[in-house]
Amino acid sequence: MQLKAVPTVHSRTFRLVKPGEVEEVTIERHVQEGEVVVEPTLASICHADLRYYMGQRRPEALAKKLPMALLHEGIGKVVISRSPEFEVGQRVVIVPNIPGTLLGKGESEICSSTSTKEFRDNYNEKNEFLGSGYDGIAQSRLVLPAECVIPIPDSIPDEIAVLSELCTVSYRAVSRVKERLFSPDMKVAVFGDGPVGYLTAALIHQIYELGPDRLKVFGAIPEKLAHFEFADCSLVQTYDFKGADKVDIVVECTGGKFSESAINQGIDLLKRGGSLILMGVTEERVPINTRDILEKGLSAYGSSRSSSVDFRAVISAMADEKYQTLLRKIIPPTFTPVQSVQDFKQAMDSASQHRGWQKEILAFDWS
Ligand SMILES: [Zn+2]
Repeated sequence: MQLKAVPTVHSRTFRLVKPGEVEEVTIERHVQEGEVVVEPTLASICHADLRYYMGQRRPEALAKKLPMALLHEGIGKVVISRSPEFEVGQRVVIVPNIPGTLLGKGESEICSSTSTKEFRDNYNEKNEFLGSGYDGIAQSRLVLPAECVIPIPDSIPDEIAVLSELCTVSYRAVSRVKERLFSPDMKVAVFGDGPVGYLTAALIHQIYELGPDRLKVFGAIPEKLAHFEFADCSLVQTYDFKGADKVDIVVECTGGKFSESAINQGIDLLKRGGSLILMGVTEERVPINTRDILEKGLSAYGSSRSSSVDFRAVISAMADEKYQTLLRKIIPPTFTPVQSVQDFKQAMDSASQHRGWQKEILAFDWS
C-alpha cells in the first residue's frame, strides 16, 4: 500500500522565548485534509500579548506556555487549501480558539452537561488558543482547520476585518444575556474607556440598537470617553453610583487594578435581579461585595474568548458602513511594518512602552 505524503509548509515563526526576547525559528508544519494554510497580513497587539512580552504573567504560566509565537487578533490570505470551502488568495479572518474536538483531543468532561455546543466550543479546556501556549499569528504560515478560517466579504476592508477577534469577544460576552438586551426597556452600563470598553459599547449600540437613553459608559479619562458619542458617558471619580438610576446589565471591561472598583460600582448600580458580565482580565483576586450580590439576587457571567459562530455574526454586522465608521475610531493612522524578527521585537517594545487609546496594528511582509 502506498501512503500519500501529507503536504508540508515551512513557517518562519517569531517565538517569545522569555519576556522581552523573541527568536525566529523555521518550523515544518503538516497540512492535513480539511486544513487551510494562511499567511498573516495584518494583526493587532492585545494586552494579553503584552502581559507575556513584559513578563507580567505568573512564572508558572510563563514556564508552561513559552516558547511560543504571540498574537491572536489577525487576518491573512489563503496560500494552500485542503478544504473545498477555500481558494488560494482568499482574504480570511483567523479564529484563534481551536476546538479540541478538531484537534482530536475530544471534549472536556467538566463542561456542564446542559451546556450548548456553542458554549462548549468556547469554553472547552481541551481547546488550543493561538498565542496562549500554542504558536500564534506571529509566523508566516499558519495551519488551521477550515472551521477556524472565516472568509472576508469584499465590502469589509482589511483594517476593519482585523478588529474581528476583539469584536467577537464582546459579542460572545453580551450574547450571554441577549434575550434581556433585545427587550426594549433594558438599560446597560459599560465600565471601561479603553479599546475593550469602546468595542463592547459600540457593539451593543450597533447590534442591539441602544443609544444614550439606555446605554451608559463609565471611564476615568475625559479624552477617552469623548470617543463614545453614541452613549451617555460619566466619569467614575464623581458619579454617585448608590444614588443613581439603576441599570439591568453591567459589563465590566476594565481589568487589572481597576477591576475591584469597577465591579463594586457595577454591583451598586445594578437593579435587583440584574446581570453582571465580567470581561476585564486581572492576575490578582478581586474582593467584591458579595453581600449585595446575594441581597439583590444578581447573576454573574465570565467571558474572555469567542468561537467561529461569533466571528460569522460579527463579520456579517461589519458589512454595515455605520458600524465601520464606529470601528474606524480605534484604528491608528499608520500600521507598523514587520518584515523581520527585529521589526517584530521593536513593535512589541514600543507597544509595551507607549500604550495609546487606539489599537497597535502590525502589517506583515513575509517576502
Ligand atoms: Zn486579545
